[in-house]
Amino acid sequence: PPTQAAAVRDAFLSFFRDRHGHRLVPSASVRPRGDPSLLFVNAGMNQFKPIFLGTVDPRSEMAGFRRVANSQKCVRAGGRHSDLEDVGRDLSHHTFFEMLGNWAFRGVYFKEEACSMAWELLTQVYGIPEDRLWVSYFGGDPKAGLGPDLESRDIWLKLGVPASRMLSFGPQENFWEMGDTGPCGPCTEIHYDLAGGVGAPQLVELWNLVFMQHNSPPGPSPIPLCHLSVCLIPVILWGASPCIPFLAREKDGSLQPLPQRHVDTGMGLERLLAVLQGRRSTYDTDLFSPLLNAIHQGCGAPPYSGRVGAADEGHTDTAYRVVADHIRTLSICIADGVSPGMSGAPGCWGLIWALNPSRLVLRRLLRRAVRFSTELLRAPPGFLGSLVPVVVETLGGAYPELQRNSAQIASLVSEDEAAFLASLQQGRRIIERTVRRLGPSDVFPAEVAWSLSLSGNLGLPLDLVKLMLEEKGVQLDSAGLERLAQEEAQHRAQQAEPVQEQGLRLDVHALGALQRQGVPPTDDSPKYNYSL
Ligand code: ATP
Ligand code: MG
Ligand code: MG
Ligand code: MG
Repeated sequence: PPTQAAAVRDAFLSFFRDRHGHRLVPSASVRPRGDPSLLFVNAGMNQFKPIFLGTVDPRSEMAGFRRVANSQKCVRAGGRHSDLEDVGRDLSHHTFFEMLGNWAFRGVYFKEEACSMAWELLTQVYGIPEDRLWVSYFGGDPKAGLGPDLESRDIWLKLGVPASRMLSFGPQENFWEMGDTGPCGPCTEIHYDLAGGVGAPQLVELWNLVFMQHNSPPGPSPIPLCHLSVCLIPVILWGASPCIPFLAREKDGSLQPLPQRHVDTGMGLERLLAVLQGRRSTYDTDLFSPLLNAIHQGCGAPPYSGRVGAADEGHTDTAYRVVADHIRTLSICIADGVSPGMSGAPGCWGLIWALNPSRLVLRRLLRRAVRFSTELLRAPPGFLGSLVPVVVETLGGAYPELQRNSAQIASLVSEDEAAFLASLQQGRRIIERTVRRLGPSDVFPAEVAWSLSLSGNLGLPLDLVKLMLEEKGVQLDSAGLERLAQEEAQHRAQQAEPVQEQGLRLDVHALGALQRQGVPPTDDSPKYNYSL
């Protein structure tokens, strides 16, 4: 069986093409085209959404798609499926990953064929021992009036999976939705047991087979604007991902049936590789080891040793993982035309350029990568850019746009890294100067912390400012900061009112996207009204 990344990817694609008559389509760009419900492409099915919704242009090539397979570049660093908080802490989530998928449109095949093809590929082509594989199926959702998916359960039993290795879960785990709205359906998942029968099973999810049958339409209207300011406070203060019901489903969670049923599957290449290479971690595969080695050589930190949680004293291994993960995501996104854009003038695109929420997410990734590499791994300035050729080497064969743009990606990353390092240094100086003037029982003034976070000044995220103060053992005037955030939120809500008065609608898609990815609106941008 194949074990190296390129061979494993190819084996997936040729299995579906040669054995099961699927047409191979290229990965879509990670920049969603014409879909405001998405920040980045987060699954292989995104580009096929018009087929699911029955809105595909009958003259387009896509209208003829029946059996399709591909390897899709996915980014989950914001929006509904965001994994940003887990990245670095665990051994299986990335902000960028490759999703291997196969599709059967308009019922050309359904549950039975989908499950048996997946089983055949995993056990016969990749040679994974059957007794290491577990499956889960949808246990139903009484609130939405959906019963358990016993059909999938029976199919797995027929394929030889014993009931003892089957689990059923509710909508949280086994009902897949692309975003807060859009096509959705029950799913059945294949998991791999890392423990291998020794002690309790340790399952890692490998492959998700979704049976698209429903559409969840957006609710009737966004929340009243008068509530806006209150909702924004946690976002501004803590960069929290707020639970604001923008773009929420209908309140009763009602689902519409899709015109036709479809199969939509996705398996993470990095996780599959780890299994095939006998590793517990996606970072110990040939997609990541060259990067981890390059980080070791470039920083002089002790070599990566795969520790997690409390065992990872000094957070060195976490930093290795964060930096390796983020530089992949940054490279892939820049190659597809989304850049963090910390440096340089926005040019004629002005506000639209600055407000692009995907850019804000990338900026956050870049800053995290800079902080983790400089503070925890002692990276020299300009280090991040030097990792780009390593990313191009590992992924450029599968995604040639990386090769085509490699020099531009490296120089953009380096420029943005330098710009952020300069802001960081200046921020430190301002903090030091302010702290020197404080009396022994004084708190750090909220106005200074606030001004450091405004892009007119330095654009440092508030959580970073707080961290820098903590390091100095100084307390921040949190009440004052909350007051400032409240004023800012009210200001922003007031700015939105004239829009309504003029009979215009607020672009809740853009606003919701900005807020859900959790970057405070004042993070980088001038005092713009991002709700306009
Ligand atoms: P998990 O429960 O592990 O977060 P998920 O249920 O969110 O995964 P799906 O949306 O079902 O994932 O995506 C299909 C497959 O893509 C998963 O089975 C997994 O193999 C892979 N995958 C999902 N998220 C990530 C990620 N952040 N990094 C790497 N692989 C991922
Ligand atoms: Mg997930
Ligand atoms: Mg899951
Ligand atoms: Mg899943």
